[in-house]
Amino acid sequence: MTWKRNQKLKYNYGLVYDKPIPKPRKSTSWTSPSYKSIKVFIKKHYSIFQDNKCAYCRMPINFGGYGDPIEHIVPKSHKTFWMFHPKNLCLSCYGCNTKKRDKNTLLNDHVTYSNAYKNYPTNSADFKIVHPTFDNYSKHIKINGIFCTPKDGSIKGANTIEICQLNRLDLIHKRVLYNRISRKKINEIYMEKLRDTSTPKYEMDAITNYAKKLAENYNYKKKVLASKNK
Ligand SMILES: [Zn+2]
Repeated sequence: MTWKRNQKLKYNYGLVYDKPIPKPRKSTSWTSPSYKSIKVFIKKHYSIFQDNKCAYCRMPINFGGYGDPIEHIVPKSHKTFWMFHPKNLCLSCYGCNTKKRDKNTLLNDHVTYSNAYKNYPTNSADFKIVHPTFDNYSKHIKINGIFCTPKDGSIKGANTIEICQLNRLDLIHKRVLYNRISRKKINEIYMEKLRDTSTPKYEMDAITNYAKKLAENYNYKKKVLASKNK
């Protein structure tokens, strides 16, 4: 997954970007029209590489939806010079992108403009969160139907879950639909979370709100059915 700067780019998957990679400057906005073609290329490349799924929550990305799915692992507001560094790019869903925003993801933030582009960190230990290039996602995060939990107490897993809020309500809803989780199973998970004293508050709030929503929906359907049968 490496690009050579200012050279013809040959990628796997038969994709080639044959223009020089732009050299971003602090004053240049990400939305500048001059970046249009490389952004199209980035989206195509990573959508194949990531199987159209978000690098953080692993749910399918809605490409026609709101927002830009290109994600800078180290925020571009912190390190503008890595705006087009291939190792700093991935795709994420709108929700994860919004939650992560410009939170710091580097453990040792020592890189400055003087050693800029070429000094992108080279290994997993440099990052707080699960890095799509350096880490194996399933070694850090376990997705159990509805919830994400850190695998074997992984700190990176816990950080990623917290920074991207991987147990937020909209994601729980998506997972329920995507994994076709039954009402019975949701109740079981709900009870399990209630009993477990170590359940974080945001997880508890999310599952409680979701259970409430389901109950409202159920009562509404019952009412409609009852009125039809009158
Ligand atoms: Zn996501």
